[in-house]
Order: sequence, then structure tokens, then C-alpha cells
Amino acid sequence: MDGDFIRLMALSEQMSFEPAEDHNLVGPPFPGRTGNCPDDVFIHPAVLPNGQKIKLLKTLLSSACERDCWYCPFRAGRDFRRVTFQSEDLARLFSLLSRRGIAEGIFLSSGLIGGGIQTQDKLLDTADILRAKLGFRGYIHLKIMPGADRSQVEQAMQLADRVSINLEAPNTQRLAKLAPHKRYIDELLQPLKWMDEIRRTQPAQRGWNGHWPSSVTQFVVGVAGESDLELLSSTQYLYRVLGLKRTYFSRFNPIPDTPLENQVPTPLIREYRLYQASFLLRDYGFDVEELPFDPNGLLPVQQDPKLTWAQEHLFEQPIEINQAERHMLLRIPGIGIKSAEAILKMRRQTKIMDIGVLKSMGIPVHRAAPFLLVNGYRPTFQPSLL
Ligand code: SF4
Repeated sequence: MDGDFIRLMALSEQMSFEPAEDHNLVGPPFPGRTGNCPDDVFIHPAVLPNGQKIKLLKTLLSSACERDCWYCPFRAGRDFRRVTFQSEDLARLFSLLSRRGIAEGIFLSSGLIGGGIQTQDKLLDTADILRAKLGFRGYIHLKIMPGADRSQVEQAMQLADRVSINLEAPNTQRLAKLAPHKRYIDELLQPLKWMDEIRRTQPAQRGWNGHWPSSVTQFVVGVAGESDLELLSSTQYLYRVLGLKRTYFSRFNPIPDTPLENQVPTPLIREYRLYQASFLLRDYGFDVEELPFDPNGLLPVQQDPKLTWAQEHLFEQPIEINQAERHMLLRIPGIGIKSAEAILKMRRQTKIMDIGVLKSMGIPVHRAAPFLLVNGYRPTFQPSLL
């Protein structure tokens, strides 16, 4: 068993380029965060879709792969020690970690061996053993393999809490610069369409806990020449048409012994601005056409896209805090979903006469004040000198 743990640690350490569920994605870049460098630890602190924090084992069933994606550490022909588990062995090993309280959930992916269908079957077997044989009722995020068929996607949705397949690029042309052997439409996009169709047409009781799992995807950012506009246009489609819960952005970081090893890494700030903009599309009612792109389709990196939008649109026409509807409150920098609800609740009781009321709600008034009116007047706000 010790040898299995060592092999599992080796696999798991190589998985830190997968940002899904990472606990620190929404904060600003900080020195310890390195994007997709494989420098993390065996068990990853994770935040689940419901906000719960857990210890997540991110692992592969096999780090051997027959494909040659140019950005990927597991690409065929790259020289490193590959590790492969049988489904039963990995399921039992994880179950042991779970019973000892070392891991509370599992993110399970794999390199491709024998095609997408065969590899997907092994992933499904692992999840099925965990659920049916070993009685695991915790969190499972199951990857869908390129080439998996519809019935396998449906099976995955009956076993997992989250399912995903990485699009890697915003369209076919960009994918060709990253992974020329992957087929964008029928291998990568189609499974996301099936997930949406299954959620819409079949009863949720067929999910393992009475709910269909959420679906997510991931883009590699900055090496295929794609613009932020392309990435966020695809993101908007994925949120609004295919019902994805989240798109993850993984900044490109060159891996030695890959065709892209001499390309420059993408700055972490670009990934961060993409997350901010994607939340504006998903939660704040923005359309992609409203976002402040430069002529090259890139977001400004110096400040967040909501502040840039507000400076262009609200500075001359500030929003009256006592009258604005929810969707307009959400346009004011510093006002998020919870604070917009708090303002609406307060307004049902009394008129807001002073910006101090917003401050008492935890709203950063130094951000919000230039863009709003309080009872018809621009608030006089003295920024802190500290
Ligand atoms: S198929 Fe997946 S694991 Fe294999 S090289 Fe491509 S991205 Fe890497």
C-alpha cells in the first residue's frame, strides 16, 4: 500500500495545473500563486459549488497518454515516469484516504489510452466502485474524455457531483495551435451539449443524490493568439446556452520538452481579469459587447473591468441609490450581489439618506461613491489617508 501512496502522490502533484475548485482563484494574484505550475501539494484545498471547503484529491487514473497536445505535461513521447492505476486499486486507495479524513472528495481525470471510450469506461468504473461498492457519498468531479459517447456522459452524470471536459481554446482555429489532434466540435463541445440536454430533458432524480451535476470547462490562456474577447464570447455562450456553472482560465506556463516550451508564460493578471469579466457575464447581467476591450480584444490589466466600465458610463450619469433596480445597483463598483440585496431590503424600510449607511453594510464606499447619488446628491466622501 505504501508504494501505491507514493504513486498516487506523484500523480496528484502533477495535477496542480487543473484550477477547477481551487480555493484561491477569486482573489487577486499574489506571490505564492503560480498558475498552472505543478508546484502544489498532494491534497488540494478546494471550494465546492455550494461554498463548502473540502480537502480534494486531484488525480489521474493514468499519466500515460497517446495524444500529443502541445501544452500538456502528459503528452505522448515526453520523457518522464508514467503511473497507471487499475480502477479498483485507485478507488480503494481513495476510500482509505477518505476514511482516515485525509481527503474528502476526488477530482478524477486520465491520460488517454486506447481511445476516449475505453478510457472513459475506466473512469466510470472507478466512480461506480466508489459509490456502489465502497459507499462513498462525498464529492466526485469526473472528467469526460475526448471521444466519449453520449451514454458515457449520462453515466458520469449519474455518479458525479460535477462533470467537465476542457475546451482548452475558444474555437476550432485556436485549438489547432494548441492540440492539433483534438476535434473541437464533436470531441470537446458535443459532450457539453449532451450535459445540457440531459439536464433539461431527464428527471434530476436520476443523478446519484437526486440532482444533476453541474458542468464546467477550462481554457488555456495566452499561447494560441486568442483575445479576451474570443474567450469571453465563448464563455457567454457556455453560460447562457449550455448552462455551464463556470469556465476556468488556466494561464499558459511552458512545460519543458513540449513544442511550446520556448513560449513566454502568460501573466497571472490576465487570468485574474478574465475571471472578473466572466463573473460580470454570469452574475452581474453584463453582455460581452459591453466589456471594455481594447482594439485588440484585450481587457485592460491595470484595473478591474467593472470599474473601467463604470468610469466610462456612470461618472457623468451616477445611479440614485434609492431608486435603482437591482441590475443597475450591480453595475456600481463595490456593490456585489449580497450588498445589492441588502440595499433593496433597507429601501423597503427606509430611504437611504447618507453614504454611511452603505459603509455600515460593508460596501467599500471609496469605490462606489464616484458613481452614485444619495437622495439626489453626489455624496461628499473623504477618502481615507491611511
Ligand atoms: S489528451 Fe489530455 S492528457 Fe493527453 S496530451 Fe492531451 S491534454 Fe494531455
